[in-house]
Amino acid sequence: MHVIVCGAGINGVSCALWLARKGVQVTLVDRAGPASGTSYGNAGILAAGSVIPVTVPGLLKKAPGMLMDSTSPLFMRWRYLPRLAPFLRKYMAHANIEHVRRYARAMTSLLSDSVAQHQALAKGTAAEPFISFEDYCFAYQTRAAFDADHWAWSIRQENGLPHEVVSGTEFATQDPLYTDIFDTVVQNKNHGRISDPGEYIKTLCDEFQSLGGEFKIATITGLRMQGTKLTALQTSDGDISGDKFAFTLGPWAGDISRKLGLNVPFESEGGYHIELINPSDMPNNPVMVASGKFVVTPMRGRLRLAGIVDFSGLDGPDNQSALDLLERNITELFPSLTYDRIDRWHGFRPTTANSLPLIGQIKKHPNAFVGFGHQHVGLTGGAKTGRILSAIVTQQPTEIDTSPFDPNAYA
Ligand SMILES: Cc1cc2nc3c(=O)[nH]c(=O)nc-3n(C[C@H](O)[C@H](O)[C@H](O)COP(=O)(O)OP(=O)(O)OC[C@H]3O[C@@H](n4cnc5c(N)ncnc54)[C@H](O)[C@@H]3O)c2cc1C
Repeated sequence: MHVIVCGAGINGVSCALWLARKGVQVTLVDRAGPASGTSYGNAGILAAGSVIPVTVPGLLKKAPGMLMDSTSPLFMRWRYLPRLAPFLRKYMAHANIEHVRRYARAMTSLLSDSVAQHQALAKGTAAEPFISFEDYCFAYQTRAAFDADHWAWSIRQENGLPHEVVSGTEFATQDPLYTDIFDTVVQNKNHGRISDPGEYIKTLCDEFQSLGGEFKIATITGLRMQGTKLTALQTSDGDISGDKFAFTLGPWAGDISRKLGLNVPFESEGGYHIELINPSDMPNNPVMVASGKFVVTPMRGRLRLAGIVDFSGLDGPDNQSALDLLERNITELFPSLTYDRIDRWHGFRPTTANSLPLIGQIKKHPNAFVGFGHQHVGLTGGAKTGRILSAIVTQQPTEIDTSPFDPNAYA
């Protein structure tokens, strides 16, 4: 059996590596190289407890004000609104507590053992040192802000996701760079961090190749079918044929999904990071600053600040106001920090209207499989998604019930 895995982000590389470990012949195809998409620039958090979607109750009321507020992390390209509107209607329809609970249950099954899943993926490879087990801290500037999120912490608790609440003062004894900044900090237990997501995934891809896997640079432009059977990819480098095809194209999955007969309400949520290179000081913990919804992550030789939700489409330009906001946020947080320079990145999160990813076999084209749509938590869930996909492709049992992620719901 020859399997073609399309897209070398965390989902594709994990799938390819697990397949190669099973002795399957695999070709991994990407237009630009491993971790050249969203998996490069994320905040690096293995956020096992991030099981609350963006579409929380009350969002519809709050969103217009947020779009007008220059300190809010929500952006939109107004000229994109006509194209965005059909998706937005469906997306906003999920901003209710029943859906949040359903989503949290499903995502807990995918995310809760994320550190162990990444450790299993990287075991015995040069990628292991990139993974660390540590608390992921949600930091609130006021007690009232923490209290307003109480309902979300209860849902995490109901799903068995452990956390501990400490005062800002106590937190500062563990992480002095955060002295006198926060009132309340929630330390999410059983979480982790990848110290350099891009290098981590490239190293996993090296491991895949060392097991005999083939890596090919090519842009996928179409599919060749014989009846319902997919026979080859049409690419910038000619046709690539195989027996089975797994599509892990992240935010660029929309076009191929349509070709596979899936009608998925699907959008990209633009996101950004800035990196302070060689900072004069470094915090110890990865922290989500709740007021601005941005994450500050210590990384190898640099401090990364990631966040922003920018509904501007995959071809949207870099939003300078969003990048400026991240820069203002870091200056306010650490006014005395110095560094060599700032690097900036603009990426895209793959998001469905119900925020659930699609993982599984396409009934109408049984030799086609998909794994995409992990929005804000794809690094966290990618190791397990790739492993599950490799099991489905090789007709083995999966670790979890994948019905909440069934792509055929969109057929
Ligand atoms: C600012 C920001 C912060 C984030 N922080 C976190 C975090 O802390 N923790 C977390 O878990 N998640 C986080 N995420 C989300 C996470 O990064 C994504 O969900 C995840 O990387 C998606 O992985 P993927 O493999 O599905 O897609 P990608 O990594 O985007 O991979 C898709 C690949 O497909 C390739 N491709 C696309 N089209 C074609 C084509 N036509 N031909 C060939 N190749 C093609 C691309 O080159 C790309 O390499 C964050 C995202 C952003 C934007």
